[in-house]
Amino acid sequence: MSKLIYLFLCCFIGGYSLTAQEKDLTKPESTEVWEPVPVKVVPGVYNSPPSDAIVLFDGTNLDAWEKEKGGGSIEWLLKDGAMVVKPGTGGIQTKESFGSVQLHLEWLAPVDEGKEGQGYSNSGVFFMGKYEVQILNSYENITYPNGQAGSIYKQHIPLVNASKPPGEWQTYDIIFNAPVFGIAGNVKEKASLTVIHNGVLLHHNAILEGPTVYIGLPKYEAHMNKLPIMLQDHGDMIRFRNIWLRPL
Ligand code: MG
Repeated sequence: MSKLIYLFLCCFIGGYSLTAQEKDLTKPESTEVWEPVPVKVVPGVYNSPPSDAIVLFDGTNLDAWEKEKGGGSIEWLLKDGAMVVKPGTGGIQTKESFGSVQLHLEWLAPVDEGKEGQGYSNSGVFFMGKYEVQILNSYENITYPNGQAGSIYKQHIPLVNASKPPGEWQTYDIIFNAPVFGIAGNVKEKASLTVIHNGVLLHHNAILEGPTVYIGLPKYEAHMNKLPIMLQDHGDMIRFRNIWLRPL
């Protein structure tokens, strides 16, 4: 009798161990995943926009932008295919609102003898109008490191200084993850940033403790899940070109 039970158990366990799933695990194709198929995107050449990008500035017009305060046409200049800060006219923001994005942006800090620190070619790209990746001439220009080029302003010092000299075009490739708020206004997921400056990694998924602020400590307050991207007028004639993004 016990032999019969033993045989039965052997057959049962043997059968179980030979289910289709477990048999497949012995084959390489059992761990191949065929769905979903990623959407095909045609990459750009030399930082030009890939096929699925939203172009925010291609050198021909300022149509995607409005004044940060009060809306309306911006007064920044369109010169030699670049968008140039017109000091004193205020920041500009995208007409469209965005949450999490991959952003490409190129900027140039003009040569400006006599300027220094935070006063030498300061601007910034503010995701959701609140979370700043600093733009500054940080080539042989000393300032507090959590405020130098590529810093997440007053929250994260860049891993390295990848700055080019003033007068040369520089690239930012940035992945921004928008914060997620609960119904009660609590922070469910903090914002994060990955920043690549001139092809060099400055921040890898750095977590933000709230909007980047000039004075005081950052603190989250619930906001919309999509908001405009802002470029700062800090009184310097920073030039921008080739700005595009891909919503994530
Ligand atoms: Mg700034």
